[in-house]
Amino acid sequence: MKASQFFISTLKEAPADAEVVSHKLMMRAGLIKKLGAGIYTYMPMGLRVIRKVEAIVREEMDRAGAVECTMPVVQPAELWEETGRFDKMGPELLRIQDRHGRDFIVQPTSEEVVTDIARQELRSYKQLPKNLYQIQTKFRDERRPRFGLMRGREFTMKDAYSFDRDQAGAKASYQAMAQAYRRIFDRFGLKYRAVAADSGAIGGDLSEEFQVIAATGEDAIVYCPTSDYAANLEKAEALAPAGPRPAASQPRTLTPTPGKATCADVAELLGVPLPTTVKSLVLATDALNEAGEPQGAQVWLLLLRGDHDMNEIKVSKVPGLDQGFRFATVAEIEEHFGAKPGYLGPLDLKKPVRIVADREVAVMADWICGANQEDHHITGVNWGRDLPEAHVVADLRNVVAGDRSPDGQGELAIERGIEVGHVFYLGTKYSKAMDATFLNEDGKPAHFEMGCYGIGVTRLPAAAIEQNHDERGIIWPDAIAPFTVVLCPIGMDRSAEVKAAAENLHDELLAAGVDVLLDDRGERPGAMFADWELIGVPHRVVLSERGLKEDQVEYQHRRDTSATKVAVADIVSHLK
Ligand code: ATP
Ligand code: MG
Ligand code: MG
Ligand code: MG
Repeated sequence: MKASQFFISTLKEAPADAEVVSHKLMMRAGLIKKLGAGIYTYMPMGLRVIRKVEAIVREEMDRAGAVECTMPVVQPAELWEETGRFDKMGPELLRIQDRHGRDFIVQPTSEEVVTDIARQELRSYKQLPKNLYQIQTKFRDERRPRFGLMRGREFTMKDAYSFDRDQAGAKASYQAMAQAYRRIFDRFGLKYRAVAADSGAIGGDLSEEFQVIAATGEDAIVYCPTSDYAANLEKAEALAPAGPRPAASQPRTLTPTPGKATCADVAELLGVPLPTTVKSLVLATDALNEAGEPQGAQVWLLLLRGDHDMNEIKVSKVPGLDQGFRFATVAEIEEHFGAKPGYLGPLDLKKPVRIVADREVAVMADWICGANQEDHHITGVNWGRDLPEAHVVADLRNVVAGDRSPDGQGELAIERGIEVGHVFYLGTKYSKAMDATFLNEDGKPAHFEMGCYGIGVTRLPAAAIEQNHDERGIIWPDAIAPFTVVLCPIGMDRSAEVKAAAENLHDELLAAGVDVLLDDRGERPGAMFADWELIGVPHRVVLSERGLKEDQVEYQHRRDTSATKVAVADIVSHLK
C-alpha cells in the first residue's frame, strides 16, 4: 500500500469529549470519526485494525467448530415478544416501525433469531451439537455512550450460540468456547484475565468474562495473586458478607493549587481520576474522627450521577453508611446545606467556581467529599481549613483488597478491567421460551441446551490502546496493527535512488506477505515520523541517500529508543 493512495488524517489535538487515552488517540490517528453519540465511522486506518481482529476471531471460532452466518440487523418484534424481551429489555433496545406500523428492533444480540433458526432447522439429535456465530453490527442505546468505540451505541460484536442435546454437551461446548477465547486473547498480545461472572439464576458457575487489564476499565475485578481465583466485583460481592465497613486506607495529605480549582485538583485531592471514572460524588457535612471515620450519624451522601441534570440528584442520609438512598430535590439540598450544589469551593465561596468540564463535584462549607462509585470509596477532604487532607472515610464495598480469597489460598487484590468477551451457559432459557425442540434418541422432543458467547470486536482495539501507548501515540501489537511495517523514505521526491530502493523494498515485502505501507507523500521526516508514531505502526524502516550509499537502512521498533542499521540485503528477512 502507498500512503498517497491511502486515507490518512491525523490530528494534533483530540476533541474535547475524548476522556480516555484510547479515544483520544483513535481520534487523533484518524481511525474513527464521530457521527453522533456512540456512533462512529470506521475510517480506512481503523477498519484495517478491526478486520485483523475479525480475522483472528474468525480463525479461532472456525477452529473450535463454530459455523459462521449473518443474522439480520433489523428483526421483527414478534420474535422478541416470544421471550418477553421486547418489553423487558427497556430503553437499551432500539425499537423501530416500518411503513405499515409493524414493530421491529435493531439487534443488541441475537438469541431470539438464532433460536428460531434452530427450531426450524435442527430437528434431530443427530444434527447436534451445533454452534452458529456471526460478526455483525449491534445497536444498544447505552445510557452513557462514552470513550469512543469502548462503549458505543452502534458497534461490532462476534456473537456465537451453541445448541446441544443435553447439559453435559452444553457444558462441553461452553468449555470449548472458553478455550477458544483464551487462544484469541493470547493472539492479540494483551494482558487479560478470565474472571467468573454472574450467570443469573441458571448456569451455576458457567459464566466468565474476559477482561483486559487497564486502569481506565469500567469494571472492577477481584483476584488472588497466589491462586486461580478471579471474579468480577459483582460476583465476588455476591459471595461476601454484606455491608460497608470503615476503610483501612491511610489519610493522604495533598496540596491544592490556591485560588483556583480545576478538575485535576479535585481529582488529586479525592485520589480518583476525574472525570473519567467518577460517576458520583458525595457531600458529607459531619466531621471525621481521628481514625478518618464518619463521626456521629450525620453523613449525607450527595450522589451526582454521570448523567444527572441538576434537578435530579440522588441524596442519601446514611447513618453509619448502612442505609439506602432516597431522592432529594435541589431545593431540599440547598435548604439543608444552605448552598447550591455543583459549585466548587470553598477556595472562594463568595465567588464559587463552576466546574465546567464535569458537574460531578460538590463542595459545601469546608468539605469537599467524593465517592467513586466504581472504586466504592467515600473520600472526605477538609479543604477549608489550613491542612488539606484527604481521608478515605468508608468503603462501600463488601470485598476489599486484602480480604482472604474464597478458596482460602491467599489475599484478594483488586484491579480494573475492560470486558472484551463473555461466555455464558444459557441452559434452556430461550429454547423453552420459544419452544425450540429437536427429536431425541427415543423419538421424543427435547429443548435445546444453549450457550452464548460474545466478543467486543470494536471494543478490543480501544482496550489494546489503553494497554499499549506512550506520549507519542499508539503502539499496536503486531497482530492487529493497521500496517505491520511502514517504509519512510527521506527525500524520495528528489532522489531517484531512494525512490527506487523504497519501491523495491515495498514490492519485496508485499511479495513476502508482509503488511507494508510506503509513505510516498513527500512529508518532511519529522512530520512523517510523528504521524506513524501516532498511528502506532510497530516496525519502521527509514531509507536515506546516505544510508543507501552504505547499502543500509535504519530499522526501529515503535518501542525502541533508537534505530539500528540493517543491510539492505537483510531487511526483508529481518521483518518477516
Ligand atoms: P458491558 O458490561 O460493558 O455493558 P455487556 O456485559 O452488556 O457489556 P455482553 O452482552 O456480554 O456485553 O456482550 C458481549 C461483548 O460485547 C462484551 O463483552 C463487550 O466486549 C461487547 N460490548 C457490549 N456492549 C458494548 C458497547 N456498548 N460497545 C462496544 N462493545 C460492547
Ligand atoms: Mg451492557
Ligand atoms: Mg458486562
Ligand atoms: Mg457481558
